[in-house]
Amino acid sequence: MLEVIQKQRQYFQSNKTKSLQFRINQLQKLKSVIKLNEALILEALHQDLGKSKYEGFISEIGILYDEINHMIKYLPKWSKVKKVKTPIVHFRSRSYLMREPYGVTLIISPWNYPFHLSINPLIGAIAGGNTAIIKPSEYSINTTKLLQSMMKEHFKEEYIAVITGGKEETNQLLNESFDYIFFTGSVPVGKIIMEKAAKHLTPVTLELGGKSPSIVCYDANIELAAKRIVFGKLFNAGQTCVAPDYLLVHRSIKDELIEKIIYFIEQFYNEPLTNPLYPKIISNRHFNRLISLIKNKIPLYGGAYNEEVLKIAPTLMTNVDLDGPLMTDEIFGPILPIIEFQHLSEAIKIVSHNPNPLALYLFTQDKQIEKDICQQIKFGGGCINDTLLHLATPYLPFGGVGNSGMGRYHGKASYETFTNQKSILKKKYFDINLRYPPYTDNKFKKIKKLFK
Ligand code: NAD
Repeated sequence: MLEVIQKQRQYFQSNKTKSLQFRINQLQKLKSVIKLNEALILEALHQDLGKSKYEGFISEIGILYDEINHMIKYLPKWSKVKKVKTPIVHFRSRSYLMREPYGVTLIISPWNYPFHLSINPLIGAIAGGNTAIIKPSEYSINTTKLLQSMMKEHFKEEYIAVITGGKEETNQLLNESFDYIFFTGSVPVGKIIMEKAAKHLTPVTLELGGKSPSIVCYDANIELAAKRIVFGKLFNAGQTCVAPDYLLVHRSIKDELIEKIIYFIEQFYNEPLTNPLYPKIISNRHFNRLISLIKNKIPLYGGAYNEEVLKIAPTLMTNVDLDGPLMTDEIFGPILPIIEFQHLSEAIKIVSHNPNPLALYLFTQDKQIEKDICQQIKFGGGCINDTLLHLATPYLPFGGVGNSGMGRYHGKASYETFTNQKSILKKKYFDINLRYPPYTDNKFKKIKKLFK
């Protein structure tokens, strides 16, 4: 581990990673390595999470091709030195901004989109001109193993390396000094990462989780809301950081919305426990945690599970205790608590129990409601009249705020995250004496005229 970090530091100091051409070549290479390994990646994702080829491809491969293409297209423009204005007090000077890579970066990723969430930050690291060490999750065993062998085969470890392991290995890594840490994972581990990074004053991005609400108002298109909530909740069997965690629905449309939700669950995932296209829960530990949330409770719908295949049927829960684990912990599985509200202020109050969600989804046609929700609730990002898809565009920076994280990535935001902005003032030899001591009264009078 130490040797790899050392090698990366030397390689970075050789300046080889910095030229625009090198960065573009490496992004092109990364894309062709992914293309070459597509079938193996989809197989590993199927083994780890039971993802169908379709789901695996769009959420973990296709989205990366888009990101790489976007990066290659705009990198020449973003990498240019940018001239900015210079105030008159700096008479006959020029000012410019230039971006430089941080150096040796550490990318720590979770198990739910194990390929995507390791490679997407890597695209930013490469685009910025850094070296990278990726520490994927110990739970997504097959994808992690593949990621390691793929990278080893195609990239030198002094440039990109994958180090595997769990808590212990991650902590060993964190004891070392990095130039940037990009972490995706849970809130408690995010706090550990930040604490460790603080020892070396290493800047961090924290992409965390939390409870993301879906709010459906009285005027919503009920059928479309139901369809898109079911899509967002059951994608990867609910194991998505931005999945609608719980549903707040206006009392007047509650029954109709639930009826439609059930209709779409059955349309999308017929016989879920034996359906090969319905994903499984990552591990026994995560499966048991989810079962404990519904055990001894009567679901409105669903509630079945099969421990042997680690599958839990889509489950709807009503009569939810706002102080119980269903409404205080991130669910991260196919269980949807449903709570009704009469006035929007009640919905806002419920959201405030778990402040600063990573995502928020609002279903309404009323622009005033849209404005009120967006202004009154602090959250990372979201959709109006849809779920999940705000993260599938390189034009919308993605990330959380407060409890749900800090920093942004995707597209230009990734490039900016993985580079430091240097501000340069370029002076001519022309010199004005006014700035130099002795600071006489006469000079004081003159300088006061400049700053009004
Ligand atoms: P996790 O925090 O348990 O693990 C993430 C990474 O941290 C793994 O690589 C793991 O090995 C490492 N790790 C775990 N415990 C550690 C410790 N004590 N010290 C140091 N490192 C440790 O998260 P997870 O269970 O893999 O993923 C699920 C969580 O990630 C959910 O909360 C979800 O919302 C969040 N998530 C967020 C995003 C996002 O983009 N914001 C995306 C996916 C998942």
